[in-house]
Amino acid sequence: MESVAVSKKRALVTGGSRGIGRAISRRLAADGFHVIINYRSNRAEAEATEKLILDAGGHCELYPFDVSDRAAASDALADIVKDQPLDLLVLCAGIRSDELLVFMSEAQWDSVLSTNLASFFSVVKPAVTHMMLNRSGRIVVISSTSGESGVAGQVNYAAAKAGLIGAVKSLARESAKRGVLVNAITPGFIETDMTENVPPELIKGVPLARIGKPEEVAGVVSFLAGPDSSYITGQVIGVNGGVYM
Ligand code: NAD
Repeated sequence: MESVAVSKKRALVTGGSRGIGRAISRRLAADGFHVIINYRSNRAEAEATEKLILDAGGHCELYPFDVSDRAAASDALADIVKDQPLDLLVLCAGIRSDELLVFMSEAQWDSVLSTNLASFFSVVKPAVTHMMLNRSGRIVVISSTSGESGVAGQVNYAAAKAGLIGAVKSLARESAKRGVLVNAITPGFIETDMTENVPPELIKGVPLARIGKPEEVAGVVSFLAGPDSSYITGQVIGVNGGVYM
């Protein structure tokens, strides 16, 4: 990573290049954070996000690494916290690979679990260690309604997202006395590449009768990163139009 002289609060957003992560990165930059935008491989999308932030007068940098690669993730985190504090981590990188369990391949199970859940160990562990030493920090994990309700065809994804909720609640208990607050957001149907094939009848079944916008998730991240959420930890906040209560 290039060394940048930064006096602003610093936030790392994994999977920050597009979709919900892009909206989160833009919102945090607008809130005054220097945003470190992680992504895996699509540099064009990441640069588009960077440009949107810079054009709006915000501060950010791009930092590609694969969250499912334990060595790469721990090297990146060590570098990110080396010289300056990390104030906020948003664990947003995620993939789906839907299939009924009876037809699911080992590769589908492994890739979804390693990207969505094992990344908690690789990325959150070094970040929270650093924050606990600093006695300050916020961690926001993007889980999913799938992990709360279960969804046919998403045994792998729902297992990973439910696992994140257990990890968030446990870590919140471990880190509270050291000033680190840890919360989860469970989005329902949000308009991104990940939901482009969702049948319209499923959206009609949402009580608010529409798909959500990435900005509606980003607003809750902004709240959980800001001063008004100082007494909130270990919580799971649904942003789902009422589809799961
Ligand atoms: P998206 O496919 O548009 O974006 C995914 C992001 O994750 C990209 O930036 C990509 O680069 C990054 N990513 C994927 N694998 C990675 C890896 N191994 N290492 C680093 N980065 C990686 O998806 P989205 O809809 O914006 O989803 C973002 C998060 O929100 C995911 O965790 C997803 O599970 C969750 N979510 C989405 C919805 C929805 O309806 N879109 C609903 C619930 C939860």
